Amino acid sequence: MGDLTGFMKLKRVDAPRRPVPLRVLDWRDLYESLPENVLRDQGARCMDCGVPFCQGDTGCPVQNLIPEWNDHVYRGRWQEALTALHSTNNFPDFTGRICPAPCEAACVLGIIDQPVSIKQIELAIIDRGFAEGWVKPQPPEEETGRRVAVVGSGPAGLAAAQQLRRMGHSVVVFEKDERVGGLLRYGIPDFKIEKWVVDRRIQQIVDEGVVFRTGVEVGVDLPAEALLADFDAVCLAGGAQTPRDLPVPGRELQGIHFAMDYLAQQNRRLNGDELRDEPILAEGKRVVVIGGGDTGSDCLGTSHRQGATEVVQIEIMPTPPLQRAESTPWPYWPMKLRTSHAHEEGGQREWSIMTKRFLADEDGRVRAIEAVRVEPGPDGRGFVEIPGSAFEIEADLVLLAMGFTGPYGAILDQLGVERDQRSNVKANRDHATNVEGVYVAGDMRMGASLIVWAIREGRDAAAAIDRYLREGAGVGGSAAGVGERAVG
Ligand code: SF4
Repeated sequence: MGDLTGFMKLKRVDAPRRPVPLRVLDWRDLYESLPENVLRDQGARCMDCGVPFCQGDTGCPVQNLIPEWNDHVYRGRWQEALTALHSTNNFPDFTGRICPAPCEAACVLGIIDQPVSIKQIELAIIDRGFAEGWVKPQPPEEETGRRVAVVGSGPAGLAAAQQLRRMGHSVVVFEKDERVGGLLRYGIPDFKIEKWVVDRRIQQIVDEGVVFRTGVEVGVDLPAEALLADFDAVCLAGGAQTPRDLPVPGRELQGIHFAMDYLAQQNRRLNGDELRDEPILAEGKRVVVIGGGDTGSDCLGTSHRQGATEVVQIEIMPTPPLQRAESTPWPYWPMKLRTSHAHEEGGQREWSIMTKRFLADEDGRVRAIEAVRVEPGPDGRGFVEIPGSAFEIEADLVLLAMGFTGPYGAILDQLGVERDQRSNVKANRDHATNVEGVYVAGDMRMGASLIVWAIREGRDAAAAIDRYLREGAGVGGSAAGVGERAVG
């Protein structure tokens, strides 16, 4: 902590967003970066707390060394900051862009003032690292001769693959889509993470020796037993992408789609890939997004960029409080009303709305939603309709963004892995499933969660697989130490 009074005299500065009228005309990152002197000031706001809640369990899931790199940035020691940053997080270039930053919600300074701009500092460190050429491949010095298959190339799979490779194992990643990246590639719009950012990191992983086999769905194109026969261990990291449906009358009408199908298509368009299905486009349409979370917000931003005439986002939950709810005191992730960049770009938000049915036009396409207003049920459980509150919202395109219910894939049945009560793949504390040598990481184990949790899961599963291979399968050397290797 170089500046003892920085937190008293300096105010938080957020990264500027490009002007709305300009940014909705393209798909580029909506944020601009802060100049170095401002970033140093932001680093100086860190109090180097005796108990840094930002990096504890309620803050950062990968336990980033936040006060350490804040101080490095304040002192202009960018390379040291990068080393500290990479020591706990394989992909700060992803989290610096799309993590909602639970670390900032847990920052001690946030009790009396705006928290430290942790995420912005993180992004500046890694972007500088790439710009300076400090991020380099780290192939292992020794090979163990063991082979590990990773199924899924989202953030959990990529983190597991990179860690395992650096430990000296031979790693093959199987991806059902034609490109690597999972949700990073197909789920998240370019205005939040441009895909060259993903490609740049994947190139590093390839240069370290990880092999990617794309367009291969294990369980369909390759039997799961072939995987067990060919590899010493398997890490399942296929996500939890079964979308929650809305089984009300009229659900079968044309023009009603899952949000992820819509978002994936736009990413495919920008990638120059084949669409596979009928195009889903918002251009010239009245769009209704059902679901008030991040995926709904991504649909909103995408609809505006495609030229929707109007967008309404509805949510069954009541309007959250403007400030942190009493039920989520510091340092917990606050339940409160959030206005995202997408809401800044337009559209209308409605709360406490329940969809009753979808209404058709004469061609069998959706023309409106019939909805009612609701209030919390007795004891706060469920919802009850407000009598006489029925109304219609006109819609040419409806996007269902109500979250995900769990993992899917023929591989799970073929392997015979047990599931938990929420249908996620069941594992012990070491990420091991009931099938010998088969491990699981990320959303497939936890249910849909944050990217930073996916990275933590991938790292933890990799460490557990390494222990299994070394202790159980007779590989020499120590499992420790990979997490300490930092540059790049
Ligand atoms: Fe710095 Fe906030 Fe972490 Fe304290 S909690 S060390 S002020 S970033």
